[in-house]
Amino acid sequence: MDEVTISRAIIESYTKELLDAMELDVAIVGAGPAGMIAGYYLGKAGVKTAIFERKLSAGGGIWGGGMMFNKIVVQEEGKVILDEVGIATEKYREDYYVADAVETASTLCSCAVKAGAKIFNLMSVEDVVIREGDRVSGLVLNWSPVFMAKLHIDPLAIRVKLVIDATGHACEICHIVTGKLGGKLRTETGGVIGEKSMWAEVGEREVARNAREVYPGLIVAGMAASAVFGLPRMGPVFGGMFLSGKEAAKLAVEMLRQGTSA
Ligand SMILES: Cc1cc2nc3c(=O)[nH]c(=O)nc-3n(C[C@H](O)[C@H](O)[C@H](O)COP(=O)(O)OP(=O)(O)OC[C@H]3O[C@@H](n4cnc5c(N)ncnc54)[C@H](O)[C@@H]3O)c2cc1C
Repeated sequence: MDEVTISRAIIESYTKELLDAMELDVAIVGAGPAGMIAGYYLGKAGVKTAIFERKLSAGGGIWGGGMMFNKIVVQEEGKVILDEVGIATEKYREDYYVADAVETASTLCSCAVKAGAKIFNLMSVEDVVIREGDRVSGLVLNWSPVFMAKLHIDPLAIRVKLVIDATGHACEICHIVTGKLGGKLRTETGGVIGEKSMWAEVGEREVARNAREVYPGLIVAGMAASAVFGLPRMGPVFGGMFLSGKEAAKLAVEMLRQGTSA
């Protein structure tokens, strides 16, 4: 084995994929449960998709389960998705199933990649590109260590047809749209409302229903949808995150097919 050949293989292979991601159908920001499930279904639908994740590891808030007890709970509808991707669940009681958080995070990651969604880890989305009036038409990316080291380095940009904000509680892309552009979101206030206190039943139901286009070209999913639309949080029950990611993917496929905003 030759060290330089190994290095060339890595650089050439990575650069090829990064160049390929310069023009995407859908860019997902955040590789938590909502983002990875969205990536899985988009990949399966043949949509050119990449997921940009700030951290070294994909999985977002799954790994720690509830208060670091690394188990998650799903309801019947959530279990259907876990069954589909081959994640084991154990029935606790009627409509409550328990899954291993580590198995869930790692399997979702594998499924999204195998379905065709490319995950770029260690990359942070720091801005959007706006075209066609006020449509989100691109993302501005930089290496996460640039932010950590507070380096003075300019980012690069990609062109996209649709963006899914799956950045969790922070709903970072929505904040960029409202904060930087003064954009009005399709919420009651026109801004990010902020999540409400815990109510698992309502939070789970609403997070899936609110995987919606919140600004032209920008869909929200997962806890980002809860935060943007002011929904109750739900604790370590994850079915809503999976269903929300699935709904976001379904909406994106429809929008791409119609070539318009919803
Ligand atoms: C304060 C707090 C409260 C929580 N409360 C709840 C709750 O009520 N209910 C619940 O179900 N879960 C809760 N969780 C746990 C967890 O956030 C969620 O369960 C679940 O992981 C959310 O899934 P998600 O896919 O929406 O986002 P996350 O799992 O949070 O994943 C988002 C991912 O996006 C990445 N990211 C964020 N911004 C960027 C960016 N600009 N560029 C690139 N990547 C980015 C993050 O690194 C992360 O990996 C909480 C977590 C925290 C920190």
